[in-house]
Amino acid sequence: MAARKPYVGGNWKMNLNGREAKELATALADGFTLGDQAEAAVFPAFPYLEKVGQALAAKSSSIKLGAQDFYHQPNGAYTGEVSLAMLKDVGASVVLVGHSERRHVIGEPDTLINDKVLAALETGLEVILCIGEKIDQREADKTDHINTGQLGYGLAGVSEAQMARVTIAYEPVWAIGTGKTATPQDAQDTHKVVRQALSFLYNDDIANAVRLQYGGSCKPSNAADLFAQPDIDGGLIGGASLKADDFLAILQAAADKAGVPA
Ligand code: PEP
Repeated sequence: MAARKPYVGGNWKMNLNGREAKELATALADGFTLGDQAEAAVFPAFPYLEKVGQALAAKSSSIKLGAQDFYHQPNGAYTGEVSLAMLKDVGASVVLVGHSERRHVIGEPDTLINDKVLAALETGLEVILCIGEKIDQREADKTDHINTGQLGYGLAGVSEAQMARVTIAYEPVWAIGTGKTATPQDAQDTHKVVRQALSFLYNDDIANAVRLQYGGSCKPSNAADLFAQPDIDGGLIGGASLKADDFLAILQAAADKAGVPA
């Protein structure tokens, strides 16, 4: 069975100005030499996508350019929105869908998240589908129920072939940007449940091939322990992706895991 290649994304959220985004991209492109062992992507804010893409391309970097959001309709009267074709046009190859800030701050429902997943895959892009429970749901023992529910809704209508371009990011909402990290064992327990759910929704081969990222206050000091878990295949990183040294250290931790059979 082929090994799953560790995969780490840096979600820059609504941070950095254009100069800072370009400098960070250049520093990452210079520092990331582990493309054979780990995959990396960065998700700058919309206005800087092209600039960051150019900075990565100037160094022939393997770091992929990603977008934090988009609207699923191809074009038209959707003031303020950005289409998938526009993202492709500026060089993005991967999109985040269902991030907890879009679910719980902006208010995106599961139906919209599913529309976005389907549209992105039909456009040929890669999708990182984010799922995760809130603290009250965890305390009410609903962690597995919430995560498998978000997974099933998000992937409704996604074909077996399209699953080759899907990554799942498990991001407990209570751990995002809070400094509170799930213990490696807690994260592994949920990742295992997610992989079992993928097996139920698809089959064992697909479940074993899909990369499952952990997200939620992942940083250089805890990345190796998290990534050492058998079902954790990298991370989706917020705060720690804004500093080149920290993000590169997390990428190194992911690369160190490379070669573990799926
Ligand atoms: C995120 O934004 O997906 C995230 C995990 O943020 P942080 O690493 O800051 O918790």
